[in-house]
Amino acid sequence: MSLIAFTNACILIAISYVALKLKNRLFMERFELWSAPLLTGVACIIMMMQPHTVNGFAAVFYGVPVIMAGLRFGGIVAILSTLLPALYMYQFTESPTLLQIVQDLMAPAIASSLFHRKESASGYVNIPFLDGLKLCMLLGSVRILYNGYMQAGAALALYIDELFLFIIFTLVVTILIAMYNDDNRSLNLQRRLELQANQDGLTGLPNLRSFMTIAQNTVKLRPLSIMMIDIDNFKRFNDTYGHMQGDRLLCEVGQILRTTINEHDYAARYGGEEFIVLSHITDDVELSVYAQKLCKAVESHRSSSLEETNITISIGISISIRPQIDLLRIISEADEALYSSKHNGKNRSTLYSSMPLITSKNA
Ligand code: GH3
Ligand code: MG
Ligand code: MG
Repeated sequence: MSLIAFTNACILIAISYVALKLKNRLFMERFELWSAPLLTGVACIIMMMQPHTVNGFAAVFYGVPVIMAGLRFGGIVAILSTLLPALYMYQFTESPTLLQIVQDLMAPAIASSLFHRKESASGYVNIPFLDGLKLCMLLGSVRILYNGYMQAGAALALYIDELFLFIIFTLVVTILIAMYNDDNRSLNLQRRLELQANQDGLTGLPNLRSFMTIAQNTVKLRPLSIMMIDIDNFKRFNDTYGHMQGDRLLCEVGQILRTTINEHDYAARYGGEEFIVLSHITDDVELSVYAQKLCKAVESHRSSSLEETNITISIGISISIRPQIDLLRIISEADEALYSSKHNGKNRSTLYSSMPLITSKNA
């Protein structure tokens, strides 16, 4: 008897491991509502195919995948997960009773969804071990009480068996929670690394690498404009207030740009005290108004730590009217226009054109 419980426990752990790996490989996160019940249902059915499970001593184990689905994804996924195994029970087991389905599938689904935490579904938050323990206690005590009631005067041996089963059951749930949490940890680490690889460490804006990927894809599809933005007299600021304050100012300017640009535009740190913006506006006049709005937003900003400083930016703009134009060329044109803004007195924007550049002073 103990061997059956151990075999079932080992099979469960192996199946869950495969299911976890499958989930990650097949990008199933996007289709969770059907992929999770499908994998869980299949795991339950594999458990049912083991000898001595259905109608037997170890029936309690095939509810475990449902429990994990409930803890992780909540009631709806847990209930959906019971459909396939319930169907299997009706088709392939001798005289299945509604009570069996309720006891071995529905009860774990409902009980586990009571312990479900919303944040666990995204994988960002671990499933607490204590929740698993409480859940096992709840299901275990109901089962022992029910069996005791149905078989009044049962031998002590029955209770010992039940207790043994309860311990193995709790161990399996705990091991599976540990496995899920461990998998989440590596997934979260991967997410964080991806974010860091695309983010500028100082300002939190996207870095040039991720900007170029997005801009390369966009430029192939539609007209766009590029703005090169440079903080005016930043060296003097650094020399006056120190590098630390300079870093702080860079963050503040990055934040202003991020919150001032249009919803579908994209801002990134180009490097040093320069930023780059991809805009979907391609009309000269609109772009000039847009650039002035950015200049004004920075000029009117009062640094949280330095009251009296007057920070301004200069902007160079280049437009790609037709798709498929070389992105690097548009950027270098914007850079040329930026140079012109600096040359003409700073705190202004210049639109690149092959003929004399059109500079708009920030009014
Ligand atoms: P202009 O108005 O012509 O742009 O003059 P500027 O002083 O802003 O430009 P310049 O190119 O002479 O100096 C840029 C300075 O930006 C020099 C460099 O020390 C500083 N800088 C570049 N990156 C960082 C950074 O990450 N943090 C800080 N604090 N300073 C930086
Ligand atoms: Mg510069
Ligand atoms: Mg500068």
